[in-house]
Amino acid sequence: MLRYSAFRIAAEGLRGNRGWTPTWRKAKPKPRYDVIVIGGGGHGLATAFYLAEVHGIRNVAVLERGLIGQGNTGRNTTIVRSNYLLPENNRFYEHSLKLWEGLEQSLGYNVMMSQRGVVNLFHNDAQRNAAIRRGNSMRLSGIDAELVDREGVRALCPLVDLDNSRYPVMGGLLQRRGGTARHDAVAWGFAHAADARGVDIIEHCEVTGLLIEGGAIGGVQTTRGEIRAPKVGLAVAGHTTTLTDMAGFPLPIETHLLQAFVSEGLKPLIDCVVTFGAGHFYISQSDKGGLVFGGGLDGYNSYGQRGTLREAEHVFAAGLSMIPALGRLRALRSWAGVMDMTPDGSPFICKTPVHGLYMTAGWCYGGFKATPGSGWCHAWTIAKDEPHPLNAAFTLERFREGRALDERGNGPYPWAQ
Ligand SMILES: Cc1cc2nc3c(=O)[nH]c(=O)nc-3n(C[C@H](O)[C@H](O)[C@H](O)COP(=O)(O)OP(=O)(O)OC[C@H]3O[C@@H](n4cnc5c(N)ncnc54)[C@H](O)[C@@H]3O)c2cc1C
Repeated sequence: MLRYSAFRIAAEGLRGNRGWTPTWRKAKPKPRYDVIVIGGGGHGLATAFYLAEVHGIRNVAVLERGLIGQGNTGRNTTIVRSNYLLPENNRFYEHSLKLWEGLEQSLGYNVMMSQRGVVNLFHNDAQRNAAIRRGNSMRLSGIDAELVDREGVRALCPLVDLDNSRYPVMGGLLQRRGGTARHDAVAWGFAHAADARGVDIIEHCEVTGLLIEGGAIGGVQTTRGEIRAPKVGLAVAGHTTTLTDMAGFPLPIETHLLQAFVSEGLKPLIDCVVTFGAGHFYISQSDKGGLVFGGGLDGYNSYGQRGTLREAEHVFAAGLSMIPALGRLRALRSWAGVMDMTPDGSPFICKTPVHGLYMTAGWCYGGFKATPGSGWCHAWTIAKDEPHPLNAAFTLERFREGRALDERGNGPYPWAQ
């Protein structure tokens, strides 16, 4: 296994960098595996890694129709946090954050984890009460949360217009252990570590059909032929319903677009993550210097990976009202991802009506931070054929049973989560 270290970098520098080997093998499909994971984004690769690392199941294939990490994993704004209200969610996301904190050591790969703090601003008494309630709920689950006043916000991000006439800032809820990680490196790091444990990562291999015999999964049809396995896990984000349609059961998931933007590179300007919920805007600065920012969904169903100018204009306007100094910046690029939105804003990591078919899905616009936790729980569910207590609530049945996990309190509207 190729190991990265400061010594290795120095040694390769002296040898003209001729000793590096590929970060993962370009595997060819075998006729049969113990487990197939569909989707080579962070969640699929993490599932394969934890199957091999924690459960010793190494005869695993990850099937990706394109190149790994080019779905939502390579398109998000890289924010990592565990500041959720509901205990089912905050315990799961805290487990994920703890995995993030040791991820570079576990993977042997630099994912550029940066715990620079995430602050959610509030602008009126009702929002302040909601922030206090959320912070208290987090602390009850052993998660760090701090309420900061206006001066606290000023100290964290002096550019915020505290006296904005429409949305004057009263303070914020801060999670200091939140921050960012480099999204591509997360896919590459999981691929590297899974490959080193024997997992086959098979790119340019689209799943076009599921082989279901007597109510149980037997394998998949792909553009590179039939591959058999008694267990199959879905980790395909916005394409989940196209796969479950093949399996013949409906899902409460809508596919929506979410855009993000990056500015020209600047010297350090914003050294934490700031979110402005009232205006639909959030921002951080990448290590390269670009300001990375985004807002809400475009508001219509699509598989296209680009959004509308109308939503772009809304995001820029919201950003300018929170940080007027942004008006002097030029935006460099914009793109969109295909989000798997659930009615209550919470995910699914569960068994499905088809025996041996499992899924991790419904990550809405917050699944990057879930990557290690989702992979860990999905791997557990596949290996043991039952959920871990951390994902026991993330079932498909919760809507029928009246146990929806309505994190935002918006009710059952995918477009409102
Ligand atoms: C603009 C934007 C900003 C975001 N910001 C954040 C953020 O700051 N923090 C956060 O926590 N989350 C954020 N998210 C959400 C986050 O990116 C996703 O929830 C998460 O990356 C989903 O990972 P995944 O591995 O499930 O999906 P993906 O990375 O999309 O991987 C799914 C893979 O499945 C493959 N696939 C699909 N169909 C098939 C098939 N039939 N056969 C084989 N392969 C198939 C796709 O090609 C894709 O590579 C953001 C998303 C977007 C779009």
